[in-house]
Amino acid sequence: MKRILVTGGAGFVGSHLCERLLLEGNHVLCVDNYFTGDKRNIVHLMDNHFFELVRHDVTQPFFAEVDQIYNLACPASPIHYQYNPIKTVKTSVMGAINMLGLAKRIKATILQASTSEVYGDPEVHPQTEDYWGHVNPIGIRSCYDEGKRCAETLFMDYHWQNNVDIKIIRIFNTYGPKMHPNDGRVVSNFIIQALKNKDITIYGDGKQSRSFQYVDDLLEGMIRMMNTPKDFIGPVNIGNPNEFTILELAQLVIELTGSKSKIAYFPSPADDPTQRQPNISLAKEKLNGWEPKIPLNEGLIKTIAYFDDLLKKEIITV
Ligand code: NAD
Ligand code: UDP
Repeated sequence: MKRILVTGGAGFVGSHLCERLLLEGNHVLCVDNYFTGDKRNIVHLMDNHFFELVRHDVTQPFFAEVDQIYNLACPASPIHYQYNPIKTVKTSVMGAINMLGLAKRIKATILQASTSEVYGDPEVHPQTEDYWGHVNPIGIRSCYDEGKRCAETLFMDYHWQNNVDIKIIRIFNTYGPKMHPNDGRVVSNFIIQALKNKDITIYGDGKQSRSFQYVDDLLEGMIRMMNTPKDFIGPVNIGNPNEFTILELAQLVIELTGSKSKIAYFPSPADDPTQRQPNISLAKEKLNGWEPKIPLNEGLIKTIAYFDDLLKKEIITV
């Protein structure tokens, strides 16, 4: 049994991770300030004696004795990370410093949930880990992109300077049950709009692409990465290379929900990346043949069922 700290553990990915780590027989300490997380995501874990929950903001130091730290605390959707951009940078940068300081003191292995956004609007396609990216440092996405880039720098420097045992994964667009219903991400937006027979809001011409990964595939890659030998630190892309345009996604969601929704076009947000697809060769090689298993239509069906249930029980009103 390992003692594992998950920051951002009440969020979408973090709550799935806490559940999975508990199922694997670990002791899990979940830390969250509930900015975008929700106690409802983890309430079912409360009866487990090996689960602990602490309200804490990672911009402040935190002390605990653990063997591993998954650093996920950070709002991940444009609406939420742009709500208070200075706080977003603080969460990424000061959160990384605080958690790396903790890892250094207690000699824990620490994994950073970095992002495909470090590649910005990429000029290399698909993106490999050695691509340095094409990021606007002063745009509306910069608080998130540059915050995450600086966090990667801190992870590498704590490793080189202080010998901290680090792992960096770059997560590509991930979806699934427990996504925040109001965070404006494309999968949750389209599903809720389709279930309510409202217009499907495409920003731009819908030809921009993303590669969507179901959350269970991410968890498998993330946990394998955490448990790789000390000398493999990444960064490593974790994503599904099957690329879809946003228009294709809209059409698939309409089909799978049997919705009467029509597609409506709106202006594209600033700095919206046009194409994004991971090259996952490194992950396959280093993570014991890891690759995503769940195709988009299968993952969407599970996610649609989740949001359908929330709407029927009137747990969400959007
Ligand atoms: P999320 O917003 O659902 O979860 C983030 C969690 O962090 C929330 O529970 C939130 O309350 C918590 N949090 C935010 N600021 C905090 C702070 N200062 N102190 C303590 N807790 C704080 O997002 P998610 O989709 O679950 O993403 C989890 C991580 O994975 C994030 O670091 C994100 O950048 C990264 N990531 C996610 C995706 C994706 O597609 N979901 C893609 C790339 C990277
Ligand atoms: N998008 C859209 N309609 C929506 C929400 C998003 O067309 O209702 C587009 C958005 O402009 C982007 C893509 O879908 O091109 C993915 O957006 P999301 O915010 O989910 O992820 P990210 O841009 O961070 O990859």
